[in-house]
Parts: sequence; C-alpha cells; structure tokens
Amino acid sequence: MSESDEVMPLIQVADLNFGYQVDGRQIEILRHVNFTIRAGEFVAIQGPSGSGKSTLFYILGCLLEPTSGSVHFDGADLTRMKPEAAAFLRNRRVGFVFQQFHLLPRATVLDNILLPAKYPQELPPAGREIRERAIELAKRLGLGDRLHHFPSQLSGGQQQRVAIARALLTDAPLILADEPTGNLDSRSAAEIMQIFAELNAQGRTIVIITHDHEVAKRCQRVLQVRDGVVTDSAATKPRHVALSSETLKVPLTWSKSSLQLATRTLPGALGNLLRTRTKSILTMLGIVIGIAAVQAMISLGEFTKDRIMEGFEALGVNKLVVRGYPNWERRASDETKREFAGFSVDSDLASVRRIFPEIRYLSPVLSSWQNTATAGGRSVSENVRLRGVNHEYAAITNIHMAEGRWLTPYHVEHRSLVCVLGSELATQLFPGQSSVGQMITVTVDADRSIPCRVIGVARPQKSNQEWNRPNTQISMPYTVYQAVGSYFASRMYQFAVQVRSESDVELAAKKIKSYFSLRYGKSGRFMVDTEGTLVAQTKRFLTIFAALLTAIAFLSLLVGGIGIHNMMLVSVTERIKEIGLRKALGATSRSIRMQVLMESLVLCSVAGLIGIAAGFAATELMIFAATKFVPKLKFELVIEPLAMLTAVGSILTVGVFSGLVPARRAERLQVIEALRAE
Ligand code: ADP
Ligand code: MG
Repeated sequence: MSESDEVMPLIQVADLNFGYQVDGRQIEILRHVNFTIRAGEFVAIQGPSGSGKSTLFYILGCLLEPTSGSVHFDGADLTRMKPEAAAFLRNRRVGFVFQQFHLLPRATVLDNILLPAKYPQELPPAGREIRERAIELAKRLGLGDRLHHFPSQLSGGQQQRVAIARALLTDAPLILADEPTGNLDSRSAAEIMQIFAELNAQGRTIVIITHDHEVAKRCQRVLQVRDGVVTDSAATKPRHVALSSETLKVPLTWSKSSLQLATRTLPGALGNLLRTRTKSILTMLGIVIGIAAVQAMISLGEFTKDRIMEGFEALGVNKLVVRGYPNWERRASDETKREFAGFSVDSDLASVRRIFPEIRYLSPVLSSWQNTATAGGRSVSENVRLRGVNHEYAAITNIHMAEGRWLTPYHVEHRSLVCVLGSELATQLFPGQSSVGQMITVTVDADRSIPCRVIGVARPQKSNQEWNRPNTQISMPYTVYQAVGSYFASRMYQFAVQVRSESDVELAAKKIKSYFSLRYGKSGRFMVDTEGTLVAQTKRFLTIFAALLTAIAFLSLLVGGIGIHNMMLVSVTERIKEIGLRKALGATSRSIRMQVLMESLVLCSVAGLIGIAAGFAATELMIFAATKFVPKLKFELVIEPLAMLTAVGSILTVGVFSGLVPARRAERLQVIEALRAE
C-alpha cells in the first residue's frame, strides 16, 4: 500500500448514473461512473463538448441529483442530503469557478468576492474580518487596485480571477472549476492555470473540467469522459472503500426561525429595491393610491354617516310614542284578563321600563287641545295645547331651555303647580319681559282651570310635525294634570319613550306593541309611532353607499397589488441568473423566497404608510372643503380606527399576496437552468 492510499478520499463516486428527462424519455448522459479523488489532488476531467462534463460538475457540486449510484464527499453521502445541508456544503466545502465567470454585474469586485459570506442566511452573519480576507485574496490574485471596479470594467482574465477569489473566500477544501479557461485567451488561460497550480501546491484539492488537452496536461491526473463513460488516466483501479451512509450535518447555529431569516434578508431586499429605484417608485404609486383611497373612503363614509345620523337624532328619531285606546268594537265573546282604560303609571309604565332595557327615558303624555292661557289681562287661546308630562320628557323630545329650567322629579312627585312655556306663547303672554316666575292660569277642560308658576321657557323648536306647534305648548307635571282634569282627560292614553341610540327603534316599537296587546288582549288597541323607518332606510342606504365607495377603493388597491406582483415577477425573471448564482453559492431556497417576499412587503409598507398619510390628508381636505359649503359643519380631525386597521391589514395582505407567486417562482428556480440561461 502506497502512502497516498491512506489518505481519506475527498470525493468517492460509485456506480453513478445520470440521465435527463426530455419529452418523457430518459436520455442517458453518464453511465456507471466510478472514481475517487483524494484530498490534495489536482485533477482534470476532460472530454469533448457534450460528453457530460458539466453534468458531472453539477452532480459533484451538489446542484444536481444522480439517477442512481452515490457520491460521497468527505465521507458524507450527497445523494441523501437535505436541502439545507446541500446549501451549507456548496457554501463552505466547495468553491465554484464557472466558465462564464458569473459575477454580479452591478456589484463591485470586492462585493462580488464577498458574495458567499452572505450565505447561508440561516447562519449568523460573518464578522468584519471576512472583508479583510476578501481584500487580501484580491491582492493575492492581482486585483488589489481593482476592488471598486465593476465586472464590465475588467478583462476576461481579471473577471475569472475575481471568480477564483470568490471561490476561495470561505476556505473550501475543494475547488470545482467548469471550463475556467474556456472564455480566455491563451495568455490569460495560462495565468489562471498557474494560479490553480499554486493553490494546489498550498494543499487545496482542485478539479478542473475542460475539453482542452493542453489544460488537462497541466494537471496531475486526467479523468476522461467519453460517451458517458469515465476512464482514469492513472489507470489505477478505483479503490473501493466502505462507503458510509453518514449525511452532512449543518452547524447547530443554523436558524429555523422565519423572523430571524426575515431580518437577515431585509438588507438584501432593501438593496435590490434601491438599485431599481425608479421602477420601485412607479410600482409603489399604485399602492399609495389604493391605500389612500381605502383610507379616505372609509373615513369619509363613516364621517358622513355619523353626521347625518346625528342630524336625525336631533330631530328625535329615537323617540317613540305609544298610544292605546279602549276597543269599542270588541265583541262580548272577547274575554280578557284586564280591561284597558288608559295606561297606569305604577303597573304599565313601571313594567315597561323594567322589561325593556333599551328604554332610556319614558314620560306619560296627557294632553288636551283648545286650552286658554291667561296672564294679567292677556289671554291666548289660539293653538295653545296643554301637556302633562314628567321630568324626562324634555330629553325625549329634545327640548332645550331658553330661560329658567325644566320640570324636576320633585315637581312631578309633589304635584307642584309649575309650568314651562313654549317660546312663542311666552312672548305672546309676556311681551317684552321675562315670563319666568310669573303666574298664569290655564284651562284644562272647558270648566276647569289651574293656576301655575312659569319656571322656564323652551327654546324655539323645529318639529317635523308642524301641526304639533311645539312653540305654543304648556308643559306641566302630569300629576297636576291628572289631579285637576276631568275623568276622561286624566286618563293616560299616551306615553313617550326614547330608546338608547344603539338600539333598533323599529324593533323596540314592535316589542312594546305586542307586549300591550298580550297584556290587554282585545280590550285595547295599541299603536306605536316612530320616525324610525326613515332613519333605518337612510342608515341602510348610507351603509350601502359607504360600502360601495370602499369596494371601489379596494378595486384600485387590487390594481396596485397586481402592479407589484407583476414587477416582482419581472424582477425575478430578470434576475434568474443572479438567483441561480446565489443558490449555487449557498443561499437556501427558503431564504431566496423570503427575500422576494420581503421586497414586496417593504414596497407595500412604504407605499402603504405614504398612502395612509395621503388618505388622511385627503379626508381632512375634503372635510375642510365641506365646512365651506355646509353650514354648521365643523372642521375636525377624523381618525377612524376602522379605516386605519383596514389600511394596515390591506398593506400586509397585498404585500404578502403580491409577493407570493414571484417568491415561489424564485424558490423553485433550478440552479443549473439559471446558470445555463444566457
Ligand atoms: P459538456 O459540459 O460536456 O459539454 P453537458 O454536461 O453540458 O456537456 O451536457 C451533456 C449532454 O446533456 C449534452 O448532450 C446536452 O445536450 C445534454 N443536456 C444538458 N443539459 C440538459 C437538459 N437540461 N436537458 C436535456 N439534456 C441536457
Ligand atoms: Mg460544459
């Protein structure tokens, strides 16, 4: 046994077969290939064009899987390797040199050399010393004064030297070169071969693939590839060592966290977007407009709805009036438990209040027409109407005081002889002077009258029921009215209710009505009047209107999203070669996908934030403009949480969805196809 036999084989190929699938047929390229390469060897794999050399190169570089057989690298089985381990191997164990150099055209010499240090991104990033190493390698390869040049500013030989420096960066034990001199003139080719020889002398294993006999002759050993069969120039039988089934393990520092990967791919994503600045900005415009539209439409929709609903509430739309009458047409057979002869405060109203929590205020309403009010020598009887109510009535019907105050619970409880006048009646009775504190006399029925003290005057009130004449009414405690009025006049056939604004007026009306119908059976007829139908319809219309606006806004956002999606697809297609190269140098598919996703997320987030700001500005501008045309509308800052939330949600959704397909395409990209693409 010679001494070299004891060296552990670095590469051990055993009964390797490979074929490409073309139109469903298998085309055999490599057949029963067996060879061993030991650490420290300088080997040429030589054969005519099309003989399968590059195919073998990709298999040895763990970029292609053999159909059958095995390839062991440093004792680890490549054919059973996980994608992460393969990425790690390509990055740390093999240095690739390609015929077409495959440098990034927009990166400087130094950045090109540093490229492998960025990968795999699942490992902690390299420290600053890697930069020193790259500069030193560049100097060693005669590129010391070219560090900040771009590949297009270099000769072919110089470009190949950059590629060799890149292959040396991670100190891989094996250098795999596919036709490294194929694109060079003979002088440069000789220089490159000299470099390889020196590297080999320093102990590195070098495998050079070439069709050129001259190149092959400079290597220590030649493996001939012809018609898919490999023969060894050393003519030594391949040594059969026991093959282990061990697989390459990735270091323990390998991170599986998506968040960590996202933060590590972010700088690359940002760099890419900045490089294609104009295109990025134009694409972002679509999202800016979309998000601004969504934000503004939702905000304005809600704002308008709120203002209109407020207007309705001021008219008393949450109010309902319950009326009940004895049923005169009832037949003798219609027996009932209770006879309806007006509502009672203690049983009817108290239980209604208890049963319907949506009731906010409730007041009995006793009223009579054609009353006369007298004060001093003056007497007014036209349209004067007397109401017996309680302290909650003002809130129900939106009565505000111009002067004095409204009835209090004390007045109601103690049957105080007090009253509140409508504004018009007050000026008629007491022209030119304050009526608060004055005494007036009001007729209740034709023959009865009550003296009372005026404690307040209501502000002029608008009513959508003009016949109601709210400004010539007199309000007094219903308890007084009941005590003084005639038998019929003192019966309560009406009461008014205000429901809480969030509850459904129509529904409350229905429930209250059926409650009384059940309670009194056929002995009474009950009606509940609301102005809620109009409100409900308006509310429904406004909601549909706002939804429609929002839908249109979303449509524009969708268009923006499609724009980003297209740009990302184009960008992936444009970068096929670059992505392939990054994968060959150790980027995992997952990190490639992540970077594309990050690009679209960054694009959408920046555009989205600008969009939110623009939407906010547009909303405020429109509200400001509206205050110039709509009286009483006040300018205000509208911060609509729903709009913000929707905008942010949309940004993230659009970002992820528009990046998903391009990201998957980038991830699936076959490295060799990408590298072969011209
Ligand atoms: P070499 O590098 O020795 O010139 P290759 O390994 O590139 O040869 O190719 C070997 C053979 O495989 C060629 O005949 C080529 O046409 C064929 N081949 C290469 N790539 C593919 C592919 N993706 N699909 C089908 N056939 C391929
Ligand atoms: Mg080739």
